[in-house]
Amino acid sequence: MQVPFCHCCGRPLPALSKKTRGKPIYCHTCTASRPYFTFSRSATAYTEFMRALIHRFKYQADLDLGRALGRVMAQQVDRYPILKKYQKIIPIPLHPEAANRRTFNQALILADQVADVTKGRVYPDVLLRLPGSALQHTLGRRQRKQGLAGEFFLARPELVGGQKILLIDDILTTGNTLSQAARVLLRGGATEVAAFTLAIGITVQDGY
Ligand SMILES: [Zn+2]
Repeated sequence: MQVPFCHCCGRPLPALSKKTRGKPIYCHTCTASRPYFTFSRSATAYTEFMRALIHRFKYQADLDLGRALGRVMAQQVDRYPILKKYQKIIPIPLHPEAANRRTFNQALILADQVADVTKGRVYPDVLLRLPGSALQHTLGRRQRKQGLAGEFFLARPELVGGQKILLIDDILTTGNTLSQAARVLLRGGATEVAAFTLAIGITVQDGY
């Protein structure tokens, strides 16, 4: 059985009414404020089980488990063949505070597995993520205006102009992080940005 989901962020939704059947439907979050990515899809729901696995991968540095989780995503590409359209793959960079503690970026490990099946290429250094204050100090006013959205900075604009880009992250909760990353890429000249995550949070407001 196919679970209905938000056409934009991919969040599973309660059963369709007769009125909405066959039409694209949107969750409360995307209805209130449409994200900058065209759409996002996720391989799994962020259940207790997934939470435990992702925790082990990230905080106990279980990289074998991380690669296995990446393969779970890769297997889902068959379900979402549209993902193959995006040949440039950008993993969401680590939050600056996490980067101090962790030596690897979980999104990059997942992205490598996805790229194996989509035949896309992974670009880990296109987006930077820094504390807002650090960016304000280091960048000129014009640079800030052009290359900055939220805490993301576009470090390699020459690689995104005219490109269709797929962002990869471990979890989508509000979608705000992915949306801000998409925003900075679009401002840099990307024609389209989509997203693919390992797991998606399911919220009470959407009927769960
Ligand atoms: Zn949505």
